Amino acid sequence: MIGMTSSSVPQEHPRVITDVRVRGERCDICIDDHGCIGEIGEGAGRALLRSGEPAITGKGAIVLPGLVNTHTHAAMTLLRGFADDMQLAEWLETKIWPMESHLTGEDVYWGTRLACLEMIRSGTIAFNDMYFFMKDAARAVKESGMKAVLSYGFIDLGDADRREKEIQATEEFVIFTKNLANPLIRPAVGPHAVYTVSRDSLRWLAEYSGQEKIGIHVHLSETEKEVEDCRSQTGMRPPALLDSCGILTPRTIAAHGCWLDQEECALLGQKGVHVSHNPQSNMKLAVNRAMPYPDLVAAGVNITLGTDGCASNNSLDLFATMKTAALLQKFYWNRETLLPATDVLRMATENGARALGTGTGRLEPGAPADIILLSRASTCNTPLHHVESNLVYSCGGGIVDTVLCQGKVLMQHRQVAGEEEILAGAEKAAAALVRRGS
Ligand SMILES: [Zn+2]
Repeated sequence: MIGMTSSSVPQEHPRVITDVRVRGERCDICIDDHGCIGEIGEGAGRALLRSGEPAITGKGAIVLPGLVNTHTHAAMTLLRGFADDMQLAEWLETKIWPMESHLTGEDVYWGTRLACLEMIRSGTIAFNDMYFFMKDAARAVKESGMKAVLSYGFIDLGDADRREKEIQATEEFVIFTKNLANPLIRPAVGPHAVYTVSRDSLRWLAEYSGQEKIGIHVHLSETEKEVEDCRSQTGMRPPALLDSCGILTPRTIAAHGCWLDQEECALLGQKGVHVSHNPQSNMKLAVNRAMPYPDLVAAGVNITLGTDGCASNNSLDLFATMKTAALLQKFYWNRETLLPATDVLRMATENGARALGTGTGRLEPGAPADIILLSRASTCNTPLHHVESNLVYSCGGGIVDTVLCQGKVLMQHRQVAGEEEILAGAEKAAAALVRRGS
């Protein structure tokens, strides 16, 4: 068990975490006024402790940088377990889309609060979200204390009237989010995919995101059907089409990428696009090909991890995703040395933080104090021959004891503020949504 000392209040913003293990070394981590990491090292926090500054006593906890989830539709937590084990088209057309047509802003608020709670409880401190009613999502994220990049899911289906409405909704949300002036919450644009957004709109979104200096969040080459339809309708495969519209940039995060070929991986590398690997969603929806990790690595692409929405996963636990990613890549490409534990941990921390621009994703002086403490005294960490192996292959999100985001405690000994209210609110919203949609 990891203890909190009661040296002084408030405990929400500790100035030092003592007696933790960083890369196997026993040390203290100091936190400055801006919520960033100060000194790290054995005994580094002694002076702060003596002067009675608020502290967390780690009692030998293993420490990692907070995890980053680069592809979510957070409010879909309300549809967790609502419809599983179905064919993709039938699942979308008869279950998911009819329910989504009844969504309200309040639903998205409660669904996102539940998602944030789940992510905090499994060690995630930042996420990249695309959905609807995003002002309500932003409100939920703000209350959670997490970091997020939020985008309104732009879908015009080639319809001119719809295009105008989507442009307006995008601009409105970007202005709203910038006006929040909350450094933890930033806007992006969210062209849903090549099969739902017209080329004119893709061009507009590319240009607008460049002007506003904000990110682009897009689905890319998730299924073979998406690739084949795109080719037969436009003469181009999805990456070429997106590139012709200016969507492939160093500010872009492309989710899935299962059906990329080698040349397309090279193109993403040249353009500096970040890719979000979502192995659990891909397996559950049987997309029939694993993201070509070896080709993306060879092309120098920054590869990150995502869970996708809760209807196609059905959890937001990045520990589970880390294990699945490592296993899927080895299995699919038939190479037992592929995607070792240290690399998959880097995808969930450093690479994700780089893609979202939330810091370095490393435990080092000057980096944001996005820190998770993991229980050492647990079956999955006994014995502890190789910490990375245990964290990826043995532990789940339940190993996370305490979470700090930008120096603020979001979970302490697995207690999150407002948890009961969030569970009750989400339960109620989900039940009402299903009643309206049925
Ligand atoms: Zn998605």
